[in-house]
Amino acid sequence: MFNKKTVKDVEVENKKVLVRCDFNVPLVDGKISDETRILGALPTIKYLAEKKSKVILCSHMGKPKGEYKLSLSLKPVAERLSELLNQEVKFISVPEVINDDVRKMIESLQPGQVALLENTRFRVEETKNGEVFSKELASLADIFVNDAFGTAHRAHSSTVGVTEFLETAVSGFLIEKELKFLGEAVEKPEKPFVAILGGAKVSDKISVIDNLLQKVDALIIGGGMSYTFLKAQGYSIGNSLVEEDKVVYAKKMIEKANEMGIELLLPIDHRISKEFKNTDPTLTKDANIPDGFMGMDIGDMTIGFFEELLLSAKTVLWNGPMGVFEFSNYNKGTYAIAQTLANIKAITIIGGGDSAAAVTQLGFSEEMTHISTGGGASLEFLEGKVLPGIEALNDK
Ligand code: AMP
Repeated sequence: MFNKKTVKDVEVENKKVLVRCDFNVPLVDGKISDETRILGALPTIKYLAEKKSKVILCSHMGKPKGEYKLSLSLKPVAERLSELLNQEVKFISVPEVINDDVRKMIESLQPGQVALLENTRFRVEETKNGEVFSKELASLADIFVNDAFGTAHRAHSSTVGVTEFLETAVSGFLIEKELKFLGEAVEKPEKPFVAILGGAKVSDKISVIDNLLQKVDALIIGGGMSYTFLKAQGYSIGNSLVEEDKVVYAKKMIEKANEMGIELLLPIDHRISKEFKNTDPTLTKDANIPDGFMGMDIGDMTIGFFEELLLSAKTVLWNGPMGVFEFSNYNKGTYAIAQTLANIKAITIIGGGDSAAAVTQLGFSEEMTHISTGGGASLEFLEGKVLPGIEALNDK
């Protein structure tokens, strides 16, 4: 249950409101290539502007490691936000993020106006949750709003530290929505509940597998992590990605799922290649991968096998691609899963990161119930962990 206060629970009119957003968007040649995260932040920003707050936005971008890097400036975000909000978003780019000019700019804000601070990670204290920067941030505002779901799993100055110096710290609409969908999916899913896990590494998803096995009716495992599971079952996997030290764990998980009566589906055929390149794919006849080849994507029989199960699902949670979807010859499995989820009548939740990127890239984002804006944060939430950026907010 989401039990934190939101912007709707506090008086915001005429108040200076510092909003931590997640504007960590990908840039290609200085241009924003995917603005999902900016769009995700709009409802909270618009609400505050309409309620006549003085809105001060902040966010990190990339990993500048405490140094000013022009390529990681939030200037393109300020420009895009100005267009989207149809009003100027005031912005001053300074390495120290906050200086006298920035303070003056904020002091001069009129109710309903919006300003954006420079990349918080230009300050070395940010990722260390340093007190000096936390205090400086807090000194700008009367109220703190966290709406950065993508960084809610990090205890940084702008997500956690600042709340120690501002009594009123509440959630924005995006965090509320993320936790509603992710929380309900996991806590009271409409059944059958199927989780699909993919992506490169088993080790990244160990706790998620452990936690989800307690909740799901079936678990589908594809992508790079599936070969460790196939190896545990005695199949040959050629040169495919494998984590030797996780084979025993994979075996245990397969046994555990069996004991619990949970279906655990693994690929039954593959698209393989001799090299990690966008080669012409070879299809295997079964789950085995011959020597000299590596698994790059799931095969057609697997697509059918997974789809059949998904057709009967009422809730589906998906995290991680089914293959090396960045290569056009190896995106078929990921594409097919995205298409199936777009077509079925079920609650479909995409757990951020690469699967969210794939769904957006393939044009299916409108068809999903919810696409999380936080890859790491949604994974940690699905592991059952407490997210510090949310924990720090005022309880209802
Ligand atoms: P993750 O960050 O763990 O969700 O993993 C995403 C990455 O897994 C993507 O960059 C995919 O290219 C990669 N991936 C998926 N399937 C495979 C595979 N069969 N072999 C190697 N990498 C894969």
